[in-house]
Amino acid sequence: MIFVQDDTVDSCVADWLSSSRGWDWSRLKQVLPIGVLHRIAAIPPPNASFGTDLPCWRWEHKQLFTTRSAYASLGNSSCHSSKVWKLIWALSVPQRIRTFVWLAVHGKLLTNQERMRRHLSNIASCSLCNNASEDVLHVLRDCVRARTIWFQVIHRRKLADFNSLPLHEWFTCVLSKSDGYFKDGDDKAAKFAIICWILWNRRNKFLFDVDYKESEPILVECSRMLAMLRAKRVSVFAHIKSHNYWVPPQPGWVTANVDGAVRLSDSAAACGGLIRDENSNWIIGFTRSLGCCPVLFAELWGVHDALKHAWSLGHRRLVIETDNVEVVDILEGNSGSLQSNTLVSAIQHMLHLEWDVRIRKIGRDYNRAADALARASRGAPVGETIFDSIPSVVYDLLQEGF
Ligand SMILES: [Zn+2]
Repeated sequence: MIFVQDDTVDSCVADWLSSSRGWDWSRLKQVLPIGVLHRIAAIPPPNASFGTDLPCWRWEHKQLFTTRSAYASLGNSSCHSSKVWKLIWALSVPQRIRTFVWLAVHGKLLTNQERMRRHLSNIASCSLCNNASEDVLHVLRDCVRARTIWFQVIHRRKLADFNSLPLHEWFTCVLSKSDGYFKDGDDKAAKFAIICWILWNRRNKFLFDVDYKESEPILVECSRMLAMLRAKRVSVFAHIKSHNYWVPPQPGWVTANVDGAVRLSDSAAACGGLIRDENSNWIIGFTRSLGCCPVLFAELWGVHDALKHAWSLGHRRLVIETDNVEVVDILEGNSGSLQSNTLVSAIQHMLHLEWDVRIRKIGRDYNRAADALARASRGAPVGETIFDSIPSVVYDLLQEGF
């Protein structure tokens, strides 16, 4: 049992941050026991840029994740979301476009209406056509530029229907029945997502980048991206087959192997990972001692740190390899209530940056180097360690081809 002062009872999580937006350990230490502090150490502090707070489910196995019970408890709205989830994450497009579509479906794009709601602006109208309210549907479908594009690609007989659906249904219907809406193209759902993404990006560039000049028509860029995706799908996955050793990525890509580990005796958790290039060269290794948290969170911390390092080192094509199927599920968006978790939000935030990130599930045997790094740092002082060169704990494993 923890006794707290009257004035702390009504405080919210954000009240426990320091001026640098990290956890305010000096105050937390005064009111919480060490075991609880260790748990908090494994949770990233809340951050307004990760979006608004959402309820999450805590009564399941490992205190997290969406199971049938979570869906049932959240009622029909969740069934709706799970349908659109499946449609979004089945899209054959880069992760950043899937994340974009997810944000759009949930009305979370920073349109003028959303900026006004968040008190970032006092203008809700469209900056291009002066329509009264610039919301997601306006930007992606109803604004004059978008209308012109859709007019060219959507069947005439379906246009009225296409233009009348509310936001959520618009995405659900068009993604699930794209064949019925689009005149041509072989991956129409991907085409729909890519056009939305280009419309949004170009609008932002047009409004916020004074030097921006359009280099090609929207539909030409869309066709080019679709062709590139078709080529990549074949080339990247073609060589990944049943080797019993680690396989380096395609030229131009880097691979991060990540893992999490929790010690049974005291629940000390840690993650570890390493990033290598197409020639199996070591780029960076990292471990993070996490305090106490479930193994799934330790694994997610590994993904988080891999994204952080790869991005800051300037890599823009990244394969993340994990042996945890739940992690793959979450990164592909099937995380339900966990989507509001700050760690998952931080990961989604990074996935949404301008780069190409692929997630791959591999067998545990092939992930031994990351596993060794994670295991070695359980129980170390909480925090991160970086390895610019190969640490001894994985040296032999790398020599053996893992
Ligand atoms: Zn407009």
